[in-house]
Amino acid sequence: MIFPKGKKLSQDELMEVERVAADFDCSILEIHGRNRCLYAILGDETHAVMFKRIAGLSFIRKVEMIESSYKLMDRRSGLADHVVRMGDAEVGIDMPFIIGGPCTIDPANPSLYLETAHALKEAGVQALRGGVWKPRTNPYSYQGDDNALGIILQAREETGLPIDVEVMDAGQLKIALKAKVDILQVGTRNALNYSLLKQIGIETAKTNSAVLLKRGRHMATPDEFIAAAEYIVAEGNPDVMLCPRGTTPALDGYRNHPDESVTPLLKSRTWAPIVVDPSHSVGHSDYVFACSLAAIAYGADGLCIESHIDPQRGIGDDPKQAITPDKMKELIEACRNAFTTRYRVE
Ligand code: PEP
Ligand code: MN
Repeated sequence: MIFPKGKKLSQDELMEVERVAADFDCSILEIHGRNRCLYAILGDETHAVMFKRIAGLSFIRKVEMIESSYKLMDRRSGLADHVVRMGDAEVGIDMPFIIGGPCTIDPANPSLYLETAHALKEAGVQALRGGVWKPRTNPYSYQGDDNALGIILQAREETGLPIDVEVMDAGQLKIALKAKVDILQVGTRNALNYSLLKQIGIETAKTNSAVLLKRGRHMATPDEFIAAAEYIVAEGNPDVMLCPRGTTPALDGYRNHPDESVTPLLKSRTWAPIVVDPSHSVGHSDYVFACSLAAIAYGADGLCIESHIDPQRGIGDDPKQAITPDKMKELIEACRNAFTTRYRVE
């Protein structure tokens, strides 16, 4: 990781650094951090001579080597002060960042989605979620519909809130990017689909889209989870949020094994914000409130919660999992209060 003296390297300075790196078969990646640009050395960065030559350039402040399979996501990385900004919110800074909305947008009932969106804005959510394309375990269940995208775009237009939409393949990614979707969700089933993660990194390096990366349901270890996110960041987009959402095998009676307790382990290793999904963890609207508070207590920076104005009229997971906007309002208040006393890694 190379730290320039100024905010960023000029074109000539960058070319000089690249010439040195090329002598050692390495290349340089420019990453836009919070206060300045940082430059990652890609390739075998252990050459002491290369280090010395780059560190000796007059416009370089320092060069640091981090030996880790996720050197950009690592807490010791120069990106550690990076903050993900979404709409008016800075994720995890002053209050928990709350994403809310139905599991699945019903294309036959746009008004249900739009009314939910307005009610959730009123309740205090900072971003809207809604499934356009759905990864379903049962291949005969509703799979999603391109037309649902127009509905969530209309909700963004009307509420001014950023939107979170899951993409499962390159075709959906292209459509979502054309619509300037603010948060691209990668679901638990694609959590380790490295070519999709790389593709998202490449395509979003020059856009403003953030990524909400869910944890692989088959108990991805903290390192495996963080390394998956590294695939996105290594292509030039540091706006990644990690989302624990429960693992299998499920705890008897819950949908998954709730895993909000992985939060402090992740926080001790990475700077990326942790946005817990309590809805898929427990799978029952009754337990979402408690799971959300637990996540905040463990140090989560935010929550992604399924919510619907009339859950019984929803589709996908909504009849079972979604909480009402009224409950969401109560939950947000409780989580804001708990936020100041949450666990923090020193
Ligand atoms: C969802 O958010 O509706 C979803 C399908 O999530 P997951 O990938 O966690 O199952
Ligand atoms: Mn769902």
